[in-house]
Amino acid sequence: ADLRALLLSRIADVPDHPQPGVVFKDITPLLDDPAAFGALTEAFTDLCARYRVDKVVGLEARGFILAAPVALRAGVGFVPVRKAGKLPRATLRQGYELEYGTAEIEIHADALAPGERVLVIDDVLATGGTADAALQLIRRAGAEVAGVAVLLELGFLAGRERLEPGLKGAPLEAL
Ligand code: 5GP
Repeated sequence: ADLRALLLSRIADVPDHPQPGVVFKDITPLLDDPAAFGALTEAFTDLCARYRVDKVVGLEARGFILAAPVALRAGVGFVPVRKAGKLPRATLRQGYELEYGTAEIEIHADALAPGERVLVIDDVLATGGTADAALQLIRRAGAEVAGVAVLLELGFLAGRERLEPGLKGAPLEAL
């Protein structure tokens, strides 16, 4: 309960960003507070132990910032999932539906070994489209989804429901 209050106190609501009617959750105050950023990192790291994680996947771009210290603390590798066209070597690519249009993300084809247990980390779960596409990439790479962990879940967008089939019983943790 204390962790939750601390984290929530360091997330700013930004009305009408990036477009009118949207309230953007800004995590930069949390990143600027070592007590909050440290507590978040410890909580994500605990999940790595609980779910016996071999690799941490961070989703571009804020997922990179949150996942990298967790990978170091947990003593496991960090793997980036990026927007299409950014990763330099051979990739697997996955498309997904946005509210308006489509998007594509990629992972290096050799980043995960068969059977490795992977925790996906991102800042915000909104519609769940990005995380769902990441789960598909991880399975296509032959690895196992140990879980998805986010700082914040926007419940009214029902991302948890969209993600459920792709989780196949793996946990979704919103801190
Ligand atoms: P989804 O695919 O679940 O609709 O959107 C999630 C992705 O968009 C995440 O990578 C997340 O970083 C970003 N995102 C969507 N809404 C917000 C928001 O209000 N705040 C932040 N920080 N990121 C958001």
